[in-house]
Amino acid sequence: MDKNIKKQSAFISEEESTIDWNEIQNAFKKTFGAEIYNSWLQKVTLVKEFNDYLILGVPTRFFRDWIVSRYLDKILEQVKQFKLSLNRIEFKIIEENKVNQELLKVSDLNKVTEIKDSILNYNRLNPNLNFDSFVQGKSNDIALSYSKKVCEHLSRYNPLYICGGVGLGKTHLLNAIGLELQGDNNVMFISAERFMYHFIKSIKKNDMVNFKDFFRKSSVFIIDDIQFLSGKESLQEEFFHTFNSLMDKGSQIIISADRAPIKLDRVQERIKSRLAGGLLVDIELPDLELKIKIIKKKIEEIQNQFKEQINLSDDVITFIAIECKTNVRELIGVLNRVVAFTRVHNKTLDISDCKKILKDVFNQIKVVTVDKIQNVVSNFFNISLSEMLSQRRSRPLARPRQIAMYLAKKMTTRSLPEIGRRFANRDHTTVIHAVKTIGRLSEQDDEMKKNIMQIKSILLEQ
Ligand code: ADP
Ligand code: MG
Repeated sequence: MDKNIKKQSAFISEEESTIDWNEIQNAFKKTFGAEIYNSWLQKVTLVKEFNDYLILGVPTRFFRDWIVSRYLDKILEQVKQFKLSLNRIEFKIIEENKVNQELLKVSDLNKVTEIKDSILNYNRLNPNLNFDSFVQGKSNDIALSYSKKVCEHLSRYNPLYICGGVGLGKTHLLNAIGLELQGDNNVMFISAERFMYHFIKSIKKNDMVNFKDFFRKSSVFIIDDIQFLSGKESLQEEFFHTFNSLMDKGSQIIISADRAPIKLDRVQERIKSRLAGGLLVDIELPDLELKIKIIKKKIEEIQNQFKEQINLSDDVITFIAIECKTNVRELIGVLNRVVAFTRVHNKTLDISDCKKILKDVFNQIKVVTVDKIQNVVSNFFNISLSEMLSQRRSRPLARPRQIAMYLAKKMTTRSLPEIGRRFANRDHTTVIHAVKTIGRLSEQDDEMKKNIMQIKSILLEQ
């Protein structure tokens, strides 16, 4: 990451730092008010300034997500007043050395060894994802009630296995269980991905004894997104041993996954059958009634937190609930955008404003990949993909190639070297040159501007 920042900054070196972060911070204070400023904006630092975007530093992922969902529009609007060419903000997580005691829970903090220390940083429970903030509906009723029962009768339902598609509330429930039990128990809450990360790190450091001890000591073991184990043989083996030894000593295990145990691909049969040996509950897609309840609850939370009134008519709320079809995460994302819009424009929304916002949101959510860009661009210019990626330098091939590289930089999160590799292993300097050339042409040349706009809209529509 740092390396990339350096390379990119060489590329825009003609545009040295022009903004004064202190000045912008003062403006934030005025716009957001002291309370929000002191809790959030004050902790945002300027990492790097580019021609058209800023990289800002934030202490945690949670902090970043919060800022992005609630304040991003307003922040951008503010910084643009100091530098008009800015059109984007990226965040970089700069971990604080100090671990926030409130957010994590392992009962014995005094005996922290090196491995524990590194795991501690990830064993975080989010205080906001609790049972009170989880809205009950037909699709999650059973999962919610058994999550609560597990807390009352430890080891009766063991393991508790919660499954459901993305964004339906699995992590929220796991977190809520962790919060509920953390006072009296040694709670371990980890994602399967993190579990693997520590497993590999411990192997490399020849520290497996510590690893095993650490996980096997917990009396409540909560593991999120277990589908991540699929195809990873040695990890499964380790997990299986951890699982068995925890079950043997009567620890409660809670697991989440995006599918039922028998449907896990490339997971050993004996593991599947152990996973299925407890209680299986699933969360389904929310119905309209639940979606509306969730929106209302979220509005209430925002109002309480920021002590301000948010006026959304029942029509607008129902409209959002009907339009958001995929999951709760998307629903909340859309709602945050709508709320941000009412704040910025200081007006009560009608359905047609809502339609506009939703269209923007869905366009943004659309994932544009380098592959897709290459296909669309080569089609647009009527050349074959292999011609576009070839080493030939004639203009009818070179221009589309450069346009595709330019769009890959602008519309995906791939780094310059990664983009270079995707274009038949070209060097990142070639990509820089393309981005520069097309960037300049799209400002000076109307034909180029029009082409770029058209290609972009094709990419966002598909
Ligand atoms: P998953 O882990 O299943 O992908 P999450 O637990 O991360 O989903 O949920 C996505 C978002 O939706 C979170 O912000 C979560 O708090 C919220 N959410 C999901 N279901 C509910 C619910 N029933 N009530 C309130 N918030 C919910
Ligand atoms: Mg999750």
